[in-house]
Amino acid sequence: MIKTDIIIIGAGPVGLFAIFEAGLLKLKCHLIDSLPQPGGQCSEIYPKKPIYDIPGYPSILAGELVDNLMEQAAPFKPGFTLGESALSIDKNQAGNFIVTTNKGTQHEAPIVMIAGGLGVFEPRKPPIENIENYEDKGIEYIIKDPEFYRGKRCVIAGGGDSALDWSIFLTEKNIASEVALVHRRSSFRGHLDSVQRVMDLAEQGKIKLITEAEVIGVHGDGKVEGVVVKHDREGEFTHATDHFIPLFGLKPSLGPIADWGLEIEKNAIKVDTLDYSTNIPGIYAIGDVNTYEGKLKLILCGFHEGTIALQSAFARIHPDKKNVLKYTTVNGVQGF
Ligand SMILES: Cc1cc2nc3c(=O)[nH]c(=O)nc-3n(C[C@H](O)[C@H](O)[C@H](O)COP(=O)(O)OP(=O)(O)OC[C@H]3O[C@@H](n4cnc5c(N)ncnc54)[C@H](O)[C@@H]3O)c2cc1C
Repeated sequence: MIKTDIIIIGAGPVGLFAIFEAGLLKLKCHLIDSLPQPGGQCSEIYPKKPIYDIPGYPSILAGELVDNLMEQAAPFKPGFTLGESALSIDKNQAGNFIVTTNKGTQHEAPIVMIAGGLGVFEPRKPPIENIENYEDKGIEYIIKDPEFYRGKRCVIAGGGDSALDWSIFLTEKNIASEVALVHRRSSFRGHLDSVQRVMDLAEQGKIKLITEAEVIGVHGDGKVEGVVVKHDREGEFTHATDHFIPLFGLKPSLGPIADWGLEIEKNAIKVDTLDYSTNIPGIYAIGDVNTYEGKLKLILCGFHEGTIALQSAFARIHPDKKNVLKYTTVNGVQGF
């Protein structure tokens, strides 16, 4: 049993910053995340994209922001249970919450802070038989590090911004040796300027554009060696490639959190904006996972919500102690 002051479910940017704010109040945190690494959407979906609306940073790569948040939290020695999903929540006789993961790891604390973001997110997969056999063997649903594709032949599928942006990036930066973009329709859903850039690159012979077609099969001996494309007019043909990257978006789902007796609205947890508490006393929800009137799903809003929620959590843990706000410029950072 892992015992702590605050169990944080979700190690995205909001959960990570909550460690720091809890630390200033001398409260220790343990985080649970179903992903193998901290950082939530920033690490999983767009680590190499610059963010422009983090106060004090005119531009920062999402992955760098996560590194900085980890460094900022380090003095408060957070614990992590990574690669495990929080499955159930119960109360013990002492009135503490027990959070159990899908692998049976148990955590005990008087406070639970849910920072679960979009929940457990699953990629939308194309309906290809045996696709699972090639996952991480040439099929990826998210581009985490473009360098992984250096000198490789890539087939990207999709009609939205992700498919367009990555096709452009891997081509213009001369990373992939060959990029083919396959899309079911003749028109794209993405930004007009991205669509135009893809068209231009296709005209210059730098991107192979295959529209009104879809990838219906994958083949290879132990890893992807080619895909089968079905074209509306030209029929089926095989295209040799090292990677097949279907970018059809992610399906957000609250997952197990939806069954914990919390008030849910629009796939998010309803909170009181006084302190971001839920309908269950002692459980708070911060960041993308919560909803209230005027909610903005932005990192900086999640930082604020966590800070306020922790003041309330402190009062619940120490009803007899008065917390006086102290500036970090005055007190510095006193780690554990
Ligand atoms: C492409 C893209 C660009 C963006 N650009 C910006 C931007 O420029 N500026 C900005 O402010 N925001 C931006 N955002 C939004 C921003 O990423 C989110 O607001 C932010 O990630 C929310 O942080 P979070 O910590 O609340 O949740 P998340 O980052 O979603 O992290 C939640 C974590 O909780 C985990 N989790 C969920 N359920 C469980 C469970 N049951 N057990 C264990 N773990 C669980 C998930 O695995 C995940 O790691 C962008 C988002 C995307 C997708």
